[in-house]
Amino acid sequence: MMPTSKGSFRLFRIAGITVYLHWLWFVVALFIIRDPTSRYPSTIWNAAEYFGLFGIVLLHEFGHALACRSVGGQAEQIVLWPLGGVAYVNPPQRPGATLWSIAAGPLVNVALMAPLTLAILWGMTQGWWIKDNEVRTLLLSLWVINVVLLVFNLLPIYPLDGGKIIWSLLWFVLGPAKSLLVAAIIGMIGVVGVMLVAVWTRSIWLGILSAFILTSCWRGLQTARMMIKLEKMPPA
Ligand SMILES: [Zn+2]
Repeated sequence: MMPTSKGSFRLFRIAGITVYLHWLWFVVALFIIRDPTSRYPSTIWNAAEYFGLFGIVLLHEFGHALACRSVGGQAEQIVLWPLGGVAYVNPPQRPGATLWSIAAGPLVNVALMAPLTLAILWGMTQGWWIKDNEVRTLLLSLWVINVVLLVFNLLPIYPLDGGKIIWSLLWFVLGPAKSLLVAAIIGMIGVVGVMLVAVWTRSIWLGILSAFILTSCWRGLQTARMMIKLEKMPPA
């Protein structure tokens, strides 16, 4: 159930990478921007926060795509959809190249902490910061969003970045197939944890997200089993 460029609008192309926006994104955007329980007095600020969130997601995906290209891999498409972004990357089949293509995404969030923190520190020196205002709320929200995205992506649950980092690290010692199997098994355990949190917090978003992760993780498990079977087959 991955979004593809089908059913998506082409936004722009930069550095050989085309960015698409899935139609579902517009539906969710309308829903969120018009949220009556928002902390902002006007929908313009809701929209600014939502665009900010997807700006961060887009930079994260560009991190994956550009890193993949830097090691000779293919990366031509990024699709944004309500659950985040997907960079279609195909790094060379080596653990080091795969690790770099995956780690570069979260590293973008680490790098973004500097300008976001500096902007907040600068704001704190200004008179308007003390009064409750939208710019302050927006800056603090974006700082939190960036950290939450970083932490969530680093959860050791395949196919989240953290799970894929485990896969590529194990690849150095176990080879591509067995390492994927181990990463997918760890991921299945982790996704049960995410599902429990979704039930506990009654979060529909986390529920949808965990169902999506579960199907992708299951697919990873099947792929690993098939790869192991192929490895065991005698050469023809
Ligand atoms: Zn990522």
